Amino acid sequence: MSENAIFPGDKIASIEEYEAGNNAFDDGDMVRAATVGEKDIDKETRTANVKHPKLLSIPRAGDIIIGTVAAVMSSMIAVSIDYINGKPTTSKVECICGTRNLRIRNVALVNDIVTLKIISHLNGTIHASISEPNLGVLFTKCRKCGGKVVPMRDAIKCTDCAWIDERKLSSNFGNSDFVNLRG
Ligand SMILES: [Zn+2]
Repeated sequence: MSENAIFPGDKIASIEEYEAGNNAFDDGDMVRAATVGEKDIDKETRTANVKHPKLLSIPRAGDIIIGTVAAVMSSMIAVSIDYINGKPTTSKVECICGTRNLRIRNVALVNDIVTLKIISHLNGTIHASISEPNLGVLFTKCRKCGGKVVPMRDAIKCTDCAWIDERKLSSNFGNSDFVNLRG
């Protein structure tokens, strides 16, 4: 951390000079930090703030993630993680998920939104699973025309060109709550 690193309760300014801003409070005498972070004194607005350090969010085994498929290979997909246990993350950590045992032609396509469960960290790589019913594709498009698709038993069908394809769909596929979450 930088020399401005501070901890909860640390004095960051006098209330005679500054008001408590982001992540700060005043104790009647001093402005103090409400969280760990970096001191940020704004002379223009006369506020004393605490900036959160940029902590990399790394998912742990058992966590449920939502992410965007970044690459599709013959036996695995790589997914850029957007949410960990429902909380947004901007650190763009990737995980990989084996797909060989699924026997599905197109488990997921690049840019599909999927939900996965983290199973392990191995040699610096985060491994995830897609096999449980709630796991799988949350949002996908037609591979032929990019149109909207609807689920049809174990397959999906394009509402534009009628192309039928396979995906490993999550039981939450088509759940509009998920769209709100992304919004
Ligand atoms: Zn189509």
